Amino acid sequence: LHDRWFVQGHWINAAATWLLEPRCAACKVVLDAPLDGPVCGRCWHQIARVRPPFCHRCGDRLPADADDLCSRCSAHAPPFDLARSAAEFDGTVRELIHAFKYERRRGLAPALASLMRERAHDVLAGADAVVPVPLHPFRSLSRGFNQADDLARLLGLPVWRILRRRRWRTAQATLGASARHHNLSGAFEARGSWVRSGRRRARLARAIVVIVDDVITTGATIEVCATELQALGVRSVRALTVARAVQSHPPPPPRPRPPSDPRHR
Ligand SMILES: [Zn+2]
Ligand SMILES: [Zn+2]
Repeated sequence: LHDRWFVQGHWINAAATWLLEPRCAACKVVLDAPLDGPVCGRCWHQIARVRPPFCHRCGDRLPADADDLCSRCSAHAPPFDLARSAAEFDGTVRELIHAFKYERRRGLAPALASLMRERAHDVLAGADAVVPVPLHPFRSLSRGFNQADDLARLLGLPVWRILRRRRWRTAQATLGASARHHNLSGAFEARGSWVRSGRRRARLARAIVVIVDDVITTGATIEVCATELQALGVRSVRALTVARAVQSHPPPPPRPRPPSDPRHR
């Protein structure tokens, strides 16, 4: 039976290739086995998977002889217990995430989610739910979907949409690290349905939840979301992304508030 299916699969792949000419989402080469996924084997192998040594807490890359914690986490514990990513935000993965988000190739979500499951099973193990980082409704509308939500639904855990965006802010991608934190403070809040329900609050107090997003860049988004979940009384907050921009240590200088901040007037 297996042989017969294999032969059929071969012919279906051949027919799909001939009819549709599907191309690898990263390098655009014509796929010879499109049923196996939207990425060619060569690109899939080239993905720069995150490997140790990395900080046990935040998952940032560490030099070979370093301690278990990066300098930033040892100076100041982050608002989550554990953050991990499947790959470095570079090369193939950058192409794939770009195609996923901006060319709206939602068919890439299963491949990216499988990479997350393969590389970060320790983050998902024992967790009760995943919490996608919300998009602002305007952006959801213009993109047509929330990439974090698409990924979260494929991680094999219940999806709890606890958070929502509170206000419209400048797109994070256009800002530097300190401006990102400032831009985001107060940008997320827990949905009223989770705040008001005593039953749900009791469940959160026992729960391990995993915040899910596509990329960690400075960590600002994840930190703000984690702080919000902690304030709601969640027992343990973790985070998982497809990719991370590799951080350089030692930590950035302290962030002074810009003089335009209304709280200073
Ligand atoms: Zn390729
Ligand atoms: Zn760290």
